[in-house]
Amino acid sequence: MTTARNALPFAIAGGGIGGLACALALARHGFRSLVLEQAHEFGEAGVGLQVAPNALSVLDALGVGDVAKQDALLIERMVMMDAVTGEEVANIPCGERFRERFGNPYAVAHRADIHGALLDACRTFDLIELRNDCRVMDFELENSGVSVMLETGERIAAAALVGADGVYSNVRTRIIGDGAPMSAGAVIYRATIPAAEMPKDLQHPYPTFWAGPGWHVIYYPLRDWALFNLGATVVTGQTTLDESEDVSPRHALPLFSGGCATPLRVLCIPKRFRRYVIVHREPVDNWSKGPATLLGDAAHPMVQYIAQGAAMALEDAICLADATHECAGDFAQAFLRYQELRIVRTARVQISSLMMDKLNHAKGVERKVRNSLFEGRTPEEYYDRLAWLYTPPPYVR
Ligand SMILES: Cc1cc2nc3c(=O)[nH]c(=O)nc-3n(C[C@H](O)[C@H](O)[C@H](O)COP(=O)(O)OP(=O)(O)OC[C@H]3O[C@@H](n4cnc5c(N)ncnc54)[C@H](O)[C@@H]3O)c2cc1C
Repeated sequence: MTTARNALPFAIAGGGIGGLACALALARHGFRSLVLEQAHEFGEAGVGLQVAPNALSVLDALGVGDVAKQDALLIERMVMMDAVTGEEVANIPCGERFRERFGNPYAVAHRADIHGALLDACRTFDLIELRNDCRVMDFELENSGVSVMLETGERIAAAALVGADGVYSNVRTRIIGDGAPMSAGAVIYRATIPAAEMPKDLQHPYPTFWAGPGWHVIYYPLRDWALFNLGATVVTGQTTLDESEDVSPRHALPLFSGGCATPLRVLCIPKRFRRYVIVHREPVDNWSKGPATLLGDAAHPMVQYIAQGAAMALEDAICLADATHECAGDFAQAFLRYQELRIVRTARVQISSLMMDKLNHAKGVERKVRNSLFEGRTPEEYYDRLAWLYTPPPYVR
């Protein structure tokens, strides 16, 4: 049994990618934690995840990078197509030069593989306790730390609390109390397509992104090419939706109008789509209260337009554990240090993701302007513009 640096454990609300990465990062510094997950089992909803080099660098630092990369598809390029004309707008090679520049490739993966790699690693540490069927409702600050309240009425004494409980975080309600997240006015239709049903001429070893007027479609193969992950987003202005029922392409297709044939061919393949209203929040300048803090989507939920939400949760985890390691047992101080290091970067990603709405969904003259912005850009010019995002921050080592 490893001796823990903390007598009472850290309580981590939520065992998603962020919560598990946090437990792992803390354990690597000798801190004990208790992960409280509301679901009956640890797992991941959804299928595909783009894993940018900054996220892979965190997985490397946590000792699970090789496993994660082994199961992932390391993509050859990122491509944006104009869904009106069928022309290529942008093409960013992700080969050797990209890897040298950012220290890692760009991958697409099963969410379950990334989550599974973290979960397996957590299970090798006796400093980490994983509990299911534990929905965190609230907490109170006490002299010795935090008292965490579960839905069952149980109270858990913890040295500190990390709210990694996602976009509808209960821990956030107590720390910030800013109500429900807001709609981005867009709906995503998601499906997976068995490779046998995907026409051969549409199968590429990279994400194909179709930018349409008021909508976009992205699809990519998952690790063994058995499945394609498909996400189709349309700006509708909607704030609510019955998300419980799957819908057919017949329902979805009329929303994706004004495009050429190819992206629409892809949309006709799945038999059913799951659909959700996309929600997010504006950045805040504080997400901690004494020895309680937030991480991942609970702290800075964003629209998915630059595919960085999980990457930010992973970076948070390593930064939080580093700050905790450096603050000699003063967890409130550690959390202030952690948020000081993370708020500007995560806010920039939140804001940049939202700005992509304009590029991804441009119509009319704006569409032409968008295309002209990318015209003639060299790979190095793309890399220079992406460097702030894909270069891992100093605490990711
Ligand atoms: C359509 C879409 C596509 C995306 N694509 C990408 C992508 O390609 N790349 C990328 O980096 N990011 C992507 N993201 C963002 C990414 O999915 C999230 O940012 C990421 O999952 C956040 O991780 P998390 O651990 O903070 O939260 P979550 O993944 O939401 O995990 C929260 C966990 O907490 C549990 N929980 C919730 N409430 C409680 C409670 N009260 N008590 C106990 N447990 C609780 C949940 O069951 C869950 O297990 C995408 C998001 C969307 C919507």
